[in-house]
Amino acid sequence: MLPGLVEGHTHIFQYVSAVGAPAEEAHLRRGVVAAADAGTAGASTFAAFRKLVVEANPLRIVNFLNVSVLGLIDFRFGELLNPDTLVPEDALATAEAHPDIVRGFKIRLSEDVVGENWESLLKKSVSLAEQAGLPLMLHIGETSEPLPVVLDYLRPGDIVAHCYTGKPHGILDGNRVQPAVAAARERGVLFDSAHGKSNLSFEVARRAIADGFLPDVLSSDTSARNWRGPVFDLLTSISKLVALGAPLDECIRRATVAPAKLLGLDTEGYGRLEVGGRADVTVVTETEEVTLPDASGNTIVAPRLEPTVVLHGGAEVDIVPWRGLPSA
Ligand SMILES: [Zn+2]
Repeated sequence: MLPGLVEGHTHIFQYVSAVGAPAEEAHLRRGVVAAADAGTAGASTFAAFRKLVVEANPLRIVNFLNVSVLGLIDFRFGELLNPDTLVPEDALATAEAHPDIVRGFKIRLSEDVVGENWESLLKKSVSLAEQAGLPLMLHIGETSEPLPVVLDYLRPGDIVAHCYTGKPHGILDGNRVQPAVAAARERGVLFDSAHGKSNLSFEVARRAIADGFLPDVLSSDTSARNWRGPVFDLLTSISKLVALGAPLDECIRRATVAPAKLLGLDTEGYGRLEVGGRADVTVVTETEEVTLPDASGNTIVAPRLEPTVVLHGGAEVDIVPWRGLPSA
């Protein structure tokens, strides 16, 4: 029996972004009671995000605001290829007007998003996060620079998403976590697993976990591109890391207590079970062993975690079946 799960990284800006998954079906009806959208909305689309996503869904939704005013509308067109779309005043004004929702900022640092301008865009992003007193989430995988170069810019509390990516410039050097990555963690930089369509490598995760490197936040990075596979849902992301050697209780902590605290939702009672608390409960059972894919088509066999009862504010939620089941 677990507290209602907290998803630290997802994309649920349905109807506006091409990557937006439906929040209630993808999350609440699979045991997740609170979720952070990671940069799908920017300042110019935030009003729609608030109305169509935050206010239209029963689960608690917060976000990391994309530093580009455009947000992530369509994966094919990098939102920062025109660097002028990073308008610090707009991002700051949105965060200031919506402190109940905006809990940080997001920059995707992939080359196809930032082009040649990674350094100036990253500096501006850190600076605006500093001004707002909020963390910056940084998406790696396909950065132009090795990770240690990028880590130098981050502050304690900033978050590196996709820590088990199999793309170039990841956290490993051979079988070991790079010293610069361990040093960044030591000074308070956080790491988010953010599975996603293309950023979980079983081989990287296996080696990193064997080297003692667990993510600070275990998230699914659900989107319209992956919620029918290879990601499926947050519980499946947990099952995968457990199968790769991470202790179950540590994984659960990183999908409940840890993201609730990071997102400032612990003060609203999320991420824990307590007498007189929110009555958000997810009961989970281990089901059959299934073959689960990573982002590159490698597979592992793992006992799957399935929600059997989900309570949201004391009311029973109608669970939807696991989306990886073969269709009848
Ligand atoms: Zn993401």
